This record gives sequence, C-alpha cells and structure tokens, in this order.
Amino acid sequence: LLSKLPATGVTIFTKMSALANEKGAINLSQGFPDFPPDPRLLERASQALLTGNNQYSPMTGLPLLREAIADLIARHYGRNVHVADEITVTSGASEAIFDAITALIKLGDEVILFDPAYDLYEPTVTLAGGICKRVSLEAPTFRPDWQAFEATLTAKTRLVLINTPHNPTGSCWLAEDVERLWQAVQHRDVYVLSDEVYEFIQFNESVVSVHKHQRLAERSIIVSSFGKSFHLTGWKVGYVVAPADITAELRKVHQYVTFCTATPLQQALAEHLLALPEESAGLAGLYRQKRDVLRNALANSRFHLLPCDGTYFQLLDYSDISDLDDVAFCEWLIDEVGVAAIPISVFYQTPPNGQRLIRLCFAKEDDTLVEAAQRLSAL
Ligand code: PMP
Ligand code: GLN
Repeated sequence: LLSKLPATGVTIFTKMSALANEKGAINLSQGFPDFPPDPRLLERASQALLTGNNQYSPMTGLPLLREAIADLIARHYGRNVHVADEITVTSGASEAIFDAITALIKLGDEVILFDPAYDLYEPTVTLAGGICKRVSLEAPTFRPDWQAFEATLTAKTRLVLINTPHNPTGSCWLAEDVERLWQAVQHRDVYVLSDEVYEFIQFNESVVSVHKHQRLAERSIIVSSFGKSFHLTGWKVGYVVAPADITAELRKVHQYVTFCTATPLQQALAEHLLALPEESAGLAGLYRQKRDVLRNALANSRFHLLPCDGTYFQLLDYSDISDLDDVAFCEWLIDEVGVAAIPISVFYQTPPNGQRLIRLCFAKEDDTLVEAAQRLSAL
C-alpha cells in the first residue's frame, strides 16, 4: 500500500488509554473528564432526542446555536461576529482544523507550527500537500521566541497554527505574544489558525484570545470545542469563526466531510447556552482547584512540577527518578505504579535531547487525583 502518512501510527491517546484499561491503571493520559456534564444539559439533550428534530441541520449549523456562539464571543471578548457568514458548527474542533487546512493549503505551501504541537496538525497539513516548519518552544515556560519565529517565515508561508492555552504543556500566551504575531504577519499573505479549545481554562488574570485582537482576528480562523467547555468530549461538537471569505472556503470542505453535526446535540447546547450564558465563566475556577489538588498532592514527590497556566494538563519532570526515555517511562508507570500518563516527545518533530517530561490530565475527581499522586509519590 502506498501510504500517504507513512510516519503516522495510532495516536498516543488510543495507545495509552488502551494500556491503562488493560492493566487497570488510573488513566491520567488521554484528556477527558471522569465526571458528568451538567444534568440540565443532559436533560435538554434527551428532550431534543425524544421530541426534537433528528434530521440534518443546516450545513452551517443550527441558527440558534450559532446565535448563542456569537453571544458567547460578544460577552467574553467584546467582539461582534456575523452569525450567518462567520460562524460554522463542526463535528469537534478536529473537523474544523481539518476543514481549514484542507481549504487553505496547496501543494508546497509552508505552515508554521510550534514544537511541541498537538498531534493532529502535522498529518493534516501533510495530507493537503503542505510542508510544516517548526519553531521550538523551550521548557519550562514554552513561550514563543519571536525572533526564531520571524526567521522561519518565508515567501511560501501561508498559515501559522497557534494553540493557546497549549496542549501538551499547559502554557498560555500573553497579550504581547498575540501582538508580536500580528507584527510579524501583518504585511504578509499569511493566515492564522488559532486552536483555542481550552479558551475557558486559563488561570492568569488576563485571558488571551485572538478574538481580542481585532486586526489579527480579521485574518484568523479561530476554533473551539464544547467538548472541553462542557465536559462532553464524546459529543464532538465544535465551531469555527473566520472572516466571510475564508468561511466560504472552509464550508466547501465541511459540506463534504460531514455536512452537519448531530442536530439534537446542537439543539441541546443552544438551549443550554441561552439559558445559562455565564456557565463557562466558572470553568477556570473548577480546573484551578483541580490543578492545585494534584500539585499539592505531588509536592513531596521526586517529580518536578512545571508551571501550568491553562488547559487541564500538568507536566512533570521525572529526571530525578529514571533515565528511561518518556515512552518507556510511561509504559513502566502503567505496569509498576498503576498510573497512565502521556510522554510528550510524541508531540515534537525534534524532542530536546535528554528532556524527561510526562503529561498528566487533571480533569478527574479529586479522589482520583489524590490516589494517583499517592502512587506517584511512592517513587
Ligand atoms: N485541539 C487541541 C489542542 C485538543 O487538545 C483537542 C482535543 N483534546 C482538539 C483540538 C480536538 O477537539 P475536539 O475533540 O473537539 O475535536
Ligand atoms: N485531545 C485529547 C488529549 O490531548 C485527546 C483527544 C483524542 O484522543 N483524540 O488528550
């Protein structure tokens, strides 16, 4: 078989969750909550399934949901987005990212990614015929080096893919990073794809989003997901906001990839957002508390905790514990300690030599976090 993705295997999330299940380990690897969504949302979903519309929604998403998304963006970021021409509902953020890259990238176009980067970006660019150029983010802060970024821009650069809050490192951009990006791209024919799926899980005072930078937003595709914001990773309902001309292009892909996203789930989310417009504002508080439960429970362990300013992921440095590489260390942890984690080398094009970091997901019940931390503290 002539593979279009010869270097790509099964994702680390599938591998580690399967191993955790097989060995009965506490699963802090794949990022998903182990607690239920708001029961009122589940009630709305069952009502929508039983009494509502179970047929195709409009290709662009239910109008009620797109209005609720516009309202969310206006309240959080003070930005007015055009409901008909600038918002599209997709089957998760993953589909939105695939649609945008497929619509914009031609053979030989260069796409700038940061290293490490979430694992779905590079194969998607490769399928479109694009070439990824990586700019490395250095531990422990993982903030971009803007000189290195500018040196990576060429006449062929078509797209810059950014992700803040950042998976897997938990780092967040500052407003000045968004401004530096704007300065670097403003006179070039370059688009920005901003993956903001953890937008409501930022622990710093000032929340950063491309939505807040009007000029950059005018040439950006901003992606988010209800999976993260409402504890529903299995619903796969996301959305993408982009200027009308880019939206028209990415909808050409969306209409043939999925056409639309599960109608009753869209209906339930729309009603929920309209009834409880402030709900996502509480998310950062919930996850800050969980981050601190995990960090406090690990305080006397031999792991070093890296800063975590956003997402529901905490990085641990295990160099005082083992010389194994991170993949081998994670396999050993499952077998010997009963805790599943994610090795972060898999998110790199070039993992730094000798870096020993693993990622834990803290979107879990407090008892689960404490039990996992006790096991890890015994090392
Ligand atoms: N981007 C990032 C950074 C993610 O962590 C994830 C999923 N965890 C996605 C995109 C995909 O989101 P969805 O499940 O809504 O497709
Ligand atoms: N984004 C999730 C994570 O980082 C995994 C999503 C998936 O398994 N596809 O853990």
